Amino acid sequence: MAARERGKTEKSSTGIIKAGLFVLLLCIALSIIMVVVQQDTYRSQVSKEFHQQHVSMGEYLNSLLMGYGQGLMNVAWTIGGHDEDSIQARIATTSELTALGHIYYINAMGELHEDGEDIEGGSEQMFEQLQELSYPKAAAYIGLAPSAVRLFTGSSMVIAAPVRTPDYGISSVVFSTIDIEGIFESDAFAYQTQKGQCLLVSDAGEIIAGAGGYRIVDMTDESFQLGLLEHSDKEGLSKRAVQDFNYGIAKKTNGFVTITTADGYRMQVSYSPLNGCDGLHFVSCFQDNLIDQSIKPLIFTSVLTCSIIIVVMIGALTLVWISAKSTNLTVERLAYEDPVTKGKNLNYFREFALNTMISNRETPFIIYRFDIANFRYINESYGHHRADMVLVSCIKNFERLFSERELCVRMDADQFLAVLINDSLLDKKMDEFTNAVNADARGNQIKYPIRFKYGIYPVKKHDHDIDVMIDHANVAKKTIKSDSKETKALYTERFVDDMRKVDHIESSMQKALAENEFKVYLQTKWDIIENKVTGAEALVRWVRPNGSVLGPEQFVPIFENNGFIEQLDFYTLESVCMRMREMMDDGIDVVPVSVNQSRLLLHSPDYVENVEKVLKQYNIPPGAIELEITESVFDNEKEDVIAIIRRLKMLGVRLSMDDFGTGYSSLNMLTEVPFDVIKIDGEYFARSAESEQERMVLGKIVEIIKDLGMEVVCEGVESEAQVEYLKTTGCRTVQGYYFSIPVPEPEFITRYLKKNE
Ligand code: C2E
Ligand code: MG
Ligand code: MG
Repeated sequence: MAARERGKTEKSSTGIIKAGLFVLLLCIALSIIMVVVQQDTYRSQVSKEFHQQHVSMGEYLNSLLMGYGQGLMNVAWTIGGHDEDSIQARIATTSELTALGHIYYINAMGELHEDGEDIEGGSEQMFEQLQELSYPKAAAYIGLAPSAVRLFTGSSMVIAAPVRTPDYGISSVVFSTIDIEGIFESDAFAYQTQKGQCLLVSDAGEIIAGAGGYRIVDMTDESFQLGLLEHSDKEGLSKRAVQDFNYGIAKKTNGFVTITTADGYRMQVSYSPLNGCDGLHFVSCFQDNLIDQSIKPLIFTSVLTCSIIIVVMIGALTLVWISAKSTNLTVERLAYEDPVTKGKNLNYFREFALNTMISNRETPFIIYRFDIANFRYINESYGHHRADMVLVSCIKNFERLFSERELCVRMDADQFLAVLINDSLLDKKMDEFTNAVNADARGNQIKYPIRFKYGIYPVKKHDHDIDVMIDHANVAKKTIKSDSKETKALYTERFVDDMRKVDHIESSMQKALAENEFKVYLQTKWDIIENKVTGAEALVRWVRPNGSVLGPEQFVPIFENNGFIEQLDFYTLESVCMRMREMMDDGIDVVPVSVNQSRLLLHSPDYVENVEKVLKQYNIPPGAIELEITESVFDNEKEDVIAIIRRLKMLGVRLSMDDFGTGYSSLNMLTEVPFDVIKIDGEYFARSAESEQERMVLGKIVEIIKDLGMEVVCEGVESEAQVEYLKTTGCRTVQGYYFSIPVPEPEFITRYLKKNE
């Protein structure tokens, strides 16, 4: 049962742990998914943010270039239609006013002026280049939509505007250079340049200008795309990204692509067309690890949060595990520990004994099932606490004296069970054990000697069922009568038969009582001087429905063991009183009848009151009923018994001490206990006749009893010689087969009693 409970608790706690682990793993998985999803979300957010920034700057660059173009157009318009000198003067003035750098002017003769000053010959190369572009055409084109005209290698861009004649012809051209890299390096582009690189790239991928602390592509690279690929891991996805980039700029849209760099980082490349400069694109490359760096704090927070949750969960799980473990230990303790002695209990014993026997097959084992004689008395006299100390002492001393392969447990109350090695040292060890427990008891001021009653079963080789072995030892123990001086009983097969009989008797006793199967027989008490009946003893017989008659020796000890004797004795007393009342009412001269009272009755609550009730109910005159109390009740609890006897006497009943001579009661007791009659036990009497000395002792005892004013009845008188002998001792009342065997009541009445005339 307890083992099952333990199993249940273990199962439920491992269930909790499993569920906890499952939840933990789920949490870890969810955390990982969450971090990955968050990482992606953050990444795309950061990417968008970067791109947005790029687009804004692209628009800014566009408007800046458009502004420069417009400025130059205004200059061209202002000087159009003026003479050469006036033009030079106006350019000189205007160049100071516009945001443009130097303003160059080339007249129809091809002479180059810078900010209104002649530059001798300096224009040749430039002019040639302009010529190549067919400058009037180019200038017209530029004038309509200022556009990049790459005249210089490096970072500058030339913008030009046609100077028109009043009739809308082109007379000359003004142009200016814009330092793109200078623009990129201005504060406005700090965001881009600090985070990576910003570039001006043509449709064909040529890098026109670039700036930024972190160089991703080199200005010397053949094309931007090649530089990008060079920087990437060159894997499929990166190649695809470069293709997307090509596609994007071909379509003149804005967008961004992500490539994985050779170092394994992700780099974002945003591109947008410069509407005012056809064929040019503003490109921002954001540093390789920038995105990862930007999201790092956010991811760190997420990972930290998840880690905290997981750590808390692991902590909670550990707590659950620890508490489950301690619950298991508690359950195990409850399952295997005896609460009183703190030793092991029967559950543990079963497992231990069996395992020990299996693993030590060659060792002879023996089972001892024992209890403490009169433990109830110890309990009542010295209190539960000290009585419990005796129990604890049993376990402690056993553990001290016996080996690890032996075990003693308390089953309940004062019932113990031990498995021992059946060797030559066993008896000696058991003696030591008893002595040690007694020494402890004396140390606890318990003066009552501790005696054990052992039922013993030597384990056989083929035995395998521990419960059967325990039962055998128990059967053996049950054969020791509670009042017997025997302390040991070894199991024999005969016990099984006896047990069956006991079972049979116990299962039918209640019904037998209800159906009046218990019959009162009466045996005469004979006055050997006057040779007449002076009384009778009620002796119970069990007359079975099949007519068989069981004598009290067959069932009284069993009833004394199971307590049923209390009911039976009271039933006997009541039926004797009832019959006596009937006889008295019928005018029959009754004789005093003695009724045997079991020791258990004396301890039954309300015993005296119940006797009184019956006597009153049947109006029994004083002295008509005698109660026989066996001598052995005085072995213990003498004071209590004497008190009860005194109270019974007050009710007017006679009291006799039965079986005198069988116990160890001292003659002193005769003075202490106020008996009316002392009944000398039949067997003791028979033994006394054997030697002169014994006869003398018996004679003296009879004399003392009589001197103390008590009556003597001698039981078991079977011969005339015994009668004659008793006459010489002065004992005049006898009981025995010589005069009459116990007979059924009706027979007794007809044979020995007569009606009043
Ligand atoms: P006891 O009270 O000592 O009864 C005397 C026993 O001696 C009776 O045995 C009786 O039959 C037997 N006896 C009488 N004369 C002789 C004789 O000359 N020779 C021999 N050998 N025996 C003789 P019984 O009736 O078998 O009862 C045995 C015991 O059972 C009684 O001993 C008494 O202790 C107990 N008993 C009998 N009836 C009751 C009862 O109703 N209640 C209780 N508690 N015990 C009872
Ligand atoms: Mg008797
Ligand atoms: Mg007797």
